Amino acid sequence: MSIQTINPTTNEVVMSFDEMTDSTVNTAVAQAASAYNDWRKTSFAHRAQLLHKVADLMRAKKEQLAKLITLEMGKLLSQAEGEIVLSADIIDYYADHGAKFLADKRLSPKYGEAFIRYSPIGVLLGVEPWNFPFYQVARFAAPNIMIGNTVLVKHASNVPQCALAIEDLFKEAEAPAGLYTNLFISGKRASALVSDVRIKGVSLTGSEAAGASLAAEAGKHLKKSVLELGGSDAFIILEDADIDKTVEWAVVGRMNNNGECCVAAKRFIAVEAIADEFIKKFTDKLSKLKVGDPMDPATELGPLCNEAAAVQIADQVSRSVSAGARLLLGGKRVNRKGAFMEPTILTDLHPGIPAYHEELFGPVASFYRVKDEQAAIDLANDSDFGLGGSVFTGDVERGRRVADQIDTGMVFINHPTWTQADLPFGGTKGSGYGRELSELGIDEFVNKKLIRTS
Ligand code: NDP
Repeated sequence: MSIQTINPTTNEVVMSFDEMTDSTVNTAVAQAASAYNDWRKTSFAHRAQLLHKVADLMRAKKEQLAKLITLEMGKLLSQAEGEIVLSADIIDYYADHGAKFLADKRLSPKYGEAFIRYSPIGVLLGVEPWNFPFYQVARFAAPNIMIGNTVLVKHASNVPQCALAIEDLFKEAEAPAGLYTNLFISGKRASALVSDVRIKGVSLTGSEAAGASLAAEAGKHLKKSVLELGGSDAFIILEDADIDKTVEWAVVGRMNNNGECCVAAKRFIAVEAIADEFIKKFTDKLSKLKVGDPMDPATELGPLCNEAAAVQIADQVSRSVSAGARLLLGGKRVNRKGAFMEPTILTDLHPGIPAYHEELFGPVASFYRVKDEQAAIDLANDSDFGLGGSVFTGDVERGRRVADQIDTGMVFINHPTWTQADLPFGGTKGSGYGRELSELGIDEFVNKKLIRTS
């Protein structure tokens, strides 16, 4: 396998890294296990102080870190800067609130006295994706370091400089050796590592295939896993929605991060009464997006994360059109070097067409026209995924009623699915299980220990 920075704007190899040997990985795991023995005994205040230092350093280096993100995976530079700020906010959030979330919980049992103590469980392995190379790591590492666990991170092989930069932030903050360790290994070796007795839990964000592989190993060895996988979020437009605001959010919901978000709005479902107006305005806006170099502040849509991703999405579009889908916009690779794909809209989709079932991880929207609210809900739920979703309506109560009937982990009303430190994030069905962020995100890799006195 290759661990490389390949600039997706040009497809040129910028830097290559060697995979770690088994012996180096073994030393890293041993160091994480040894660090755990000390870290678990530190106070919440001590852990919070370290996390605040990491967050401060991250903010201080915002421009430089954001450029690394843009270089390695093609995110627009302004959005990369936003990701750095969000990641620092998440780290601060757990530093500020961790002690409160993890405080002993008194119980009122029928007999005796009892409380729950939230104890760490040991070394964790995080397998992280390239689409938000800092944010994904922050939401895994910060709560777990606050709990008293230590972490090993196997980052995606196309963002090695981001992976090293995060480890460097911990070093610069004077974290003890073994608290946070980057592993340059393949996904296959990450899955194999789960059997190591020193590793007590695993968390993965990525594809269903990678999640299934890691979780199978975790299951075999009776270890806890958290999976945040793909999504095919519905974006429902009801007839009473404010159309112009809805269209603005539809563009952001689909095209944020060049379309490479697990919670991107992927299936646009409009009720008949508003469908024509929505699709006309949505198509118009997508057709005007300025495609180009993500380092250029004028660019509105950058490349995909690498050539393979661009080839894959172009293939999904072409297979869907061959199976009967109709193109309303785009559909081809952009005629320039780099991993670019045109903003694309597909319609006339039905079961059996690839785009009806598969996740479209890029700037490709699926458009559906339905009779009414109930048909919109039914279509939204006709998916193997269950991550997020959104409902656009002038009546918030109606939005809540619709939200209640959508089988996903998150539903937003009059806003695309989004993320922030204090809101839980995660899905159901094929989108995985467990939660990250908020109070729920610090609740996954803890031993909720009962302590009872007579
Ligand atoms: P992957 O799932 O392959 O990559 C995500 C992470 O998992 C990477 O660190 C990868 O390592 C690792 N990995 C891959 N295979 C295994 C394995 N068998 N066991 C353990 N870890 C593994 O995603 P891709 O980058 O290939 O993207 C493919 C699709 O995944 C996207 O089109 C999208 O549908 C989904 N995806 C979802 C994301 C989300 O936010 N939920 C984020 C990224 C992708 P390595 O890079 O070395 O292969």
